[in-house]
Amino acid sequence: MASIAVCPGSFDPVTLGHLDIVTRGAKVFDKVIVAVLNNRSKQPLFTVEERVQLLKEVTKDLPNVEIDSFDGLLIDYVKEKEASAIIKGLRAVSDFEYEMQMASINRKLDENVETFFMMTNNKYSYLSSSIVKEIAKYHAPVADLVPNIVEKALKEKYSSVT
Ligand code: ADP
Repeated sequence: MASIAVCPGSFDPVTLGHLDIVTRGAKVFDKVIVAVLNNRSKQPLFTVEERVQLLKEVTKDLPNVEIDSFDGLLIDYVKEKEASAIIKGLRAVSDFEYEMQMASINRKLDENVETFFMMTNNKYSYLSSSIVKEIAKYHAPVADLVPNIVEKALKEKYSSVT
């Protein structure tokens, strides 16, 4: 049976840190589904469609990576996709507490689904979508933090904003 993993997140927008986790995950699992969470309680910069589109473009050279979006409970989505694993990236100790809670609750909901944690690449340990947005908002360079097309998309988003 093929091993399928879901890599969930907001990806608002995708950064080089995300891409690093997805690329490494795709070497371990037969298929990785990057799933953009449609979180109604958050006010995102990019729409779900824009986030999916950017992810599709930056992963186009990874044949076993699929991009999708989902609503509702992650564990339901994982089961619907017949996946057996969830991949999460860990940046710092601050990520750990929340992720441990999520992994525990997901295991309680379905003990057949395993959560796999991958340590960030050191050079991206400080990197988050929020930091990227904060920098781009003030028109400072983000070229080392996100793929080129994301840099372009950020410039367009913030071109009308000061
Ligand atoms: P954020 O908005 O904080 O960047 P997301 O919800 O989009 O986070 O993240 C999706 C997944 O990617 C999470 O598992 C998160 O821990 C992981 N991730 C985000 N940035 C990095 C990074 N720089 N290094 C490793 N993992 C990361």
